[in-house]
Amino acid sequence: MEKKPFVTLEQIREMTKTYPTPFHLYDEKGIRENARRLHQAFAWNKGFKEYFAVKATPNPFILKILREEGCGTDCSSMTELMMSEGCGFSGKEIMFSSNDTPPEEFAYAHQLGAVINLDDFTHIKCLEDTLGFIPETISCRYNPGGVYEISNGIMDNPGDAKYGMTTDQMFQAFRLLKEKGAKHFGIHAFLASNTVTNDYYPALARTLFQLAVRLQKETGAYVEFINLSGGVGIPYRPEQEPNDIFAIGEGVRKVYEEVLVPAGMGDVAICTECGRFMLGPYGCLVTQAIHEKHTYKEYVGVDACAVNLMRPAMYGAYHHITVAGKEEEVCDHKYDVVGSLCENNDKFAVDRMLPKIEKGDYLVIHDTGAHGFSMGYNYNGKLRSAELLLKEDGSVERIRRAETARDYFATFDFCDLLKKF
Ligand SMILES: *Cc1c(COP(=O)(O)O)cnc(C)c1O
Repeated sequence: MEKKPFVTLEQIREMTKTYPTPFHLYDEKGIRENARRLHQAFAWNKGFKEYFAVKATPNPFILKILREEGCGTDCSSMTELMMSEGCGFSGKEIMFSSNDTPPEEFAYAHQLGAVINLDDFTHIKCLEDTLGFIPETISCRYNPGGVYEISNGIMDNPGDAKYGMTTDQMFQAFRLLKEKGAKHFGIHAFLASNTVTNDYYPALARTLFQLAVRLQKETGAYVEFINLSGGVGIPYRPEQEPNDIFAIGEGVRKVYEEVLVPAGMGDVAICTECGRFMLGPYGCLVTQAIHEKHTYKEYVGVDACAVNLMRPAMYGAYHHITVAGKEEEVCDHKYDVVGSLCENNDKFAVDRMLPKIEKGDYLVIHDTGAHGFSMGYNYNGKLRSAELLLKEDGSVERIRRAETARDYFATFDFCDLLKKF
């Protein structure tokens, strides 16, 4: 499918009068419409709730939009819990799915009334030592081990992942937690990432539903919810077929009726913790071409770099690029699109066919709405960019300012040498 930016050159020109490039831009309309589709797709399940994975796009303005659309948050750290609290999320609107968890984060999560999802059997003791008791609602993360294969080939390798408990440990954990007073149980698993297929959730649901039936039968623990977590993918490449969330919801419903309903478990709530699917396509990184270099290859140097978007450098991930205003021109030039880090992997694209790029052109790097800004860092003393929101009425709001040198130096607050900046 042809990938079109949600922003035009004209709009970018207008924005750059106030906000210099680079910046991440989010599309409120797209975010809301997509969240509504997800809720429609799972409307058959009475207790359904999407807990947005905050780590994907930790911005209070985004969280508030998602809260208005009925989402909760899925947190993995202290500051994500704080941000959720600050945005008005409380109690069972917050899922705390963390691993290698510092005890004080368990304490804070419990203070907020969040549902705690335990990554390991040994965390039962850690949680009990921290709180003095076990909460009545508790969830455990499952890892079936081995290689996780669904219809269109091998998807991921849970046996090699640090997350979750073995099957035996799940049974032990449910028995122990029940003994210690837990009453409402959840089961969680995240077995494959960025799955561009409608089969992942239904396949995962079957694994978890079957486990839930056995757990409830054999331990007597009441399973209240099953958390399919994240992992629903997006088509980063133009040739990829996007997921159909309605087919996914329907696929999960079929398995629910086949496995849970006959076991008398037709009241189990389904939860999701989508991050990428909720925000990925509804964000882009806007950057300007500032140099061109002709050596053994043709380079276009832009004013963004890997600190603004790490996925290409870290995973070799593909992000589609559109030259704003040249959407209809032929892609007859082969470029490496690069940033300014002293790292040769600081390339947004390698050997990419694009229209001829002039200095001053704006490039739209697609699908940066999730795991984009949030993976940013400060290598080479580079500063994080601003984040802007393209609102439903077409106006633009800055939802995070760009970092300044003063922010970068702020942790040297004891050092007078840098005060003058
Ligand atoms: C990262 C993560 C998510 C979100 O994953 P996506 O691939 O962005 O959907 C959800 N739950 C947990 C526990 C995670 O670590």
